[in-house]
Amino acid sequence: MTVTRFAPSPNGALHLGHAYAAIVAADRAAQDGGTMLLRIEDIDGPRSRPELADEFRADLAWLGLSWREVGAQSGRIAAYRAAAASLRADGLLYPCSCTRAEIAAHATQSGPDGPIYPGTCRHRPPAPDAPLAWRLDMAAAVSRAGPLTWFDERRGEQRAEPAMFGDVVLWRKDAPASYHLAATLDDATDGVSVVTRGIDLFRASHVHRLLQALLDLPVPRWHHHPVLVGADGHKLAKRRGSAGLAERRRAGEDGAALRIAIQAGLFDTGVSLADTIDLAP
Ligand code: GLU
Repeated sequence: MTVTRFAPSPNGALHLGHAYAAIVAADRAAQDGGTMLLRIEDIDGPRSRPELADEFRADLAWLGLSWREVGAQSGRIAAYRAAAASLRADGLLYPCSCTRAEIAAHATQSGPDGPIYPGTCRHRPPAPDAPLAWRLDMAAAVSRAGPLTWFDERRGEQRAEPAMFGDVVLWRKDAPASYHLAATLDDATDGVSVVTRGIDLFRASHVHRLLQALLDLPVPRWHHHPVLVGADGHKLAKRRGSAGLAERRRAGEDGAALRIAIQAGLFDTGVSLADTIDLAP
């Protein structure tokens, strides 16, 4: 059975870009008579406003979508911790006390998520009493896992190249698990068979494929869909002036008509689809 997912973070109101993502996930599931899951990704520290989840449900219902909700990330911390402990027991994680400023000062290369960690803490004891993050020793992890591939339904077979991220953080200082660890574990736990998400996260899947190998998790397929951009070529964001779905819903707009327009590729003025991996942040 095909299981896709829509996994919004309750950091702000949903907008047209989210509506598009949810519709793609729902339509991709429906194509095979499957199910779209809703998962609230609410572990982003103080930015997370769990009360927004009710608004999200109302927005999806307004668009005329159906879904099955699974547990929010805040209820799964023990599972993330256990996975991090197992990677640590395998010698694949090391503690890191570097601040953002230290990393920026020493980094010489840049990866998909910003500066590549220069490896400062890889072979030294962490600073005493400093808050610690835990990083994946990428070289050791890649050599443990061996060559890996993954399959994107729109872009075909991919050779996994997680090393482009360097030693990613899997356990954060300021919040529990990192996005990479939490999303990978959740998709496995929730039985997601097709990971539906925006093309802007395409490269993250290299890291997720590696984590699946290291943690012995099932390997789904991926479906990275285009994302909506504004006239400036940037991904739509509430702060860039895109009207929120809740706002439109309260203003009396017809949600089902909006869904049909989106399915037909008709967006607001100045809004279009971008299908490029190198999307301007
Ligand atoms: N929670 C992420 C977001 O709202 C989506 C992550 C994913 O789809 O894997 O952007």
